[in-house]
Amino acid sequence: MSIGESPTGGIERRPAIAVAVRCPCGLEITSTTPEDLVIDVNRHLTEQHPRVAGHYDDDDILALSYPRPVAPTDRDRQGVPQ
Ligand SMILES: [Zn+2]
Repeated sequence: MSIGESPTGGIERRPAIAVAVRCPCGLEITSTTPEDLVIDVNRHLTEQHPRVAGHYDDDDILALSYPRPVAPTDRDRQGVPQ
């Protein structure tokens, strides 16, 4: 996570959240990639819900996930000149 910009410039910097899962306990777990989401959900289950930890495989978790909007300013970074 190294961006060559001033950390606290005038621009509000938001993480480009891509996917999220709402845990039954009320916590919304978000990640930029499905792979990271699976890791974060499994970590949350292990820490907060050890009784169900390991009961969900990657596909189960991704089936419960839903997309999150990504800030347009982050999309603009895709227009990198060749
Ligand atoms: Zn939870």
